[in-house]
Amino acid sequence: MNKKVLERHEVPVADTWDLESIFSNDEQWEQVAQQFKERVSEIDEFRGRLDESSNILFRALSKQLELEEQLGKLFTYAHMRHDQDTGNSYYAALQDQAYGLMSILEQKTAFVTPELLAMDPKVLDALVNEKDELQAFAHMFDQLKKQRDHVLSEKEEELLARAKEALLASSQAFGALNNADLEFPTIKGEDGKEVQITHGRFVSLLQSKNREVRKAAFEAVYATYESYKNTFAATLSGQVKGDIFQAQSRKYNSAREAALSETHIPLSVYDQLVETVDEHLPLLHRYVRLRKKCLEVDELHMYDLYTPIVKDVDFSVTYEEAKQKVIEAVGPLGEEYVNRLKKGFDDRWVDVQENKGKRSGAYSSGAYGTKPFILMNWQDDVDNLFTLAHEFGHSLHSDYTRSSQPYVYGDYTIFVAEVASTLNEALLHHHFIETLDDKEKKLYILNYFLEGFRGTVFRQTMFAEFEQLIHAKVEAGGSLTADELTREYYDLNVKYYGEDMVIDKEIGYEWARIPHFYYNFYVFQYATGYSAAAALSKQILEEGQPAVDRFLSFLKTGSSEYPIDMLKKAGVDMTTAEPIKQAMQLFEQTLDQMEELLEN
Ligand SMILES: [Zn+2]
Repeated sequence: MNKKVLERHEVPVADTWDLESIFSNDEQWEQVAQQFKERVSEIDEFRGRLDESSNILFRALSKQLELEEQLGKLFTYAHMRHDQDTGNSYYAALQDQAYGLMSILEQKTAFVTPELLAMDPKVLDALVNEKDELQAFAHMFDQLKKQRDHVLSEKEEELLARAKEALLASSQAFGALNNADLEFPTIKGEDGKEVQITHGRFVSLLQSKNREVRKAAFEAVYATYESYKNTFAATLSGQVKGDIFQAQSRKYNSAREAALSETHIPLSVYDQLVETVDEHLPLLHRYVRLRKKCLEVDELHMYDLYTPIVKDVDFSVTYEEAKQKVIEAVGPLGEEYVNRLKKGFDDRWVDVQENKGKRSGAYSSGAYGTKPFILMNWQDDVDNLFTLAHEFGHSLHSDYTRSSQPYVYGDYTIFVAEVASTLNEALLHHHFIETLDDKEKKLYILNYFLEGFRGTVFRQTMFAEFEQLIHAKVEAGGSLTADELTREYYDLNVKYYGEDMVIDKEIGYEWARIPHFYYNFYVFQYATGYSAAAALSKQILEEGQPAVDRFLSFLKTGSSEYPIDMLKKAGVDMTTAEPIKQAMQLFEQTLDQMEELLEN
């Protein structure tokens, strides 16, 4: 863990993602970008003419989609090159250029939606019925109808499109500070040698069995965030104001309502999540007590949350071992799914290693017509194994969708995305519980599940509450200072973890390091997705083929249906509290299993 972090050019090719499959080199990207700039004006001839004939309408929409598809590839290449080495100024500029192209396309196509919505719905329906090819856009037209009240005039839409790039400044500044400029100090590692803290190493250090190590890492990281607290407060506050500006411009009652309506999720799904999780906080408090007992400490601190409860279990996993585990674990999904997954490993979907300047964390990305790439910052532990399974869940979802749907529906909403990824984690957990004989390792995995549940359902719901709270504060005319953010965040931790936990003052600064607060009401979907996945994995394991078939057809649906409807067909109804309650039962059962095993 204390080995030197490689420079980007030192990473072996086999461990890097195959971005050359999108553009063979940077020159080709520049050429295509240049062509794109010239071709983007081809949409102009349709301006003001969408109601002229079904042919014009079809050609205009096809042109728009064709340009968007091409931009998707340009953007994917540029942002992933940037992410692999955020300190590389050439790629930073390339990403800027891609954002610029996106802004040009949005300006050029800003007339399409308002023109469609300005049309008499009967005229639009008649045009659609006239031409078979337009039937393929039926669901898109239906979505448009639902937006009718929130689309502005052509001039206003154009203005908003132009403002969009400037509105990204807060999150870009956050990214630059957090990923490139911020430097963490060195601390004494487990072997007594100095180790420099990085984003990638922080989690591993917090998992250390040596309390001094995890305490030192915890304190060093949050002291660093504290020293930049005003800058971080400015970037977060800027983001929140931007969210609200856009929501108010579009006449929504709140930023939250605007964000959820984009994917047609009723606010009640969000409220119900927060309510149901709040009702079940005593289960989290019970887990805190169990942890305190297992660690045999007088006081349980925030830096004691990530270390395994089970002592002396060596459970390191190399990347090669992880590959095998993931392949075995998804077996219940059938041969075809497994083969697609193997192909992902062979075809360099994954950028495996951490290197200097690489974006922290992990994600699955890509665009229609590219491979569904995965960014990792590999460390040899169980956490990375589960993350790999998770990201492959996303990438396989993309793979199924893109090979089954036309471009217009070749994407999926984030609300369903987390179901596909978390399901793989649930299968991996099940696989471990079935195959592990070693009591200590079994305990480790049970604890890992409880910890994952804490991190996904409880923690993300806490994030969701925080997000709702800071937006509401600004919407009510308040402001977000560093001290205010810190106090609110700290208080939420007190509520969530309860009386058996010492809520260290440092945790108050955690809001500063969470990239998801820049994603506009994204995180609640981790919790709803997790709950849906828990319910679906149960169906797949108990029911077999019929449940697998429902799930695979869910993966192929893309965005051709509303997410709530897709999930209903797959087997879970998210408009009820039921899936969240089921997930809570699973948490309680696992607590029981763990306590029982500990007593034997
Ligand atoms: Zn995910």
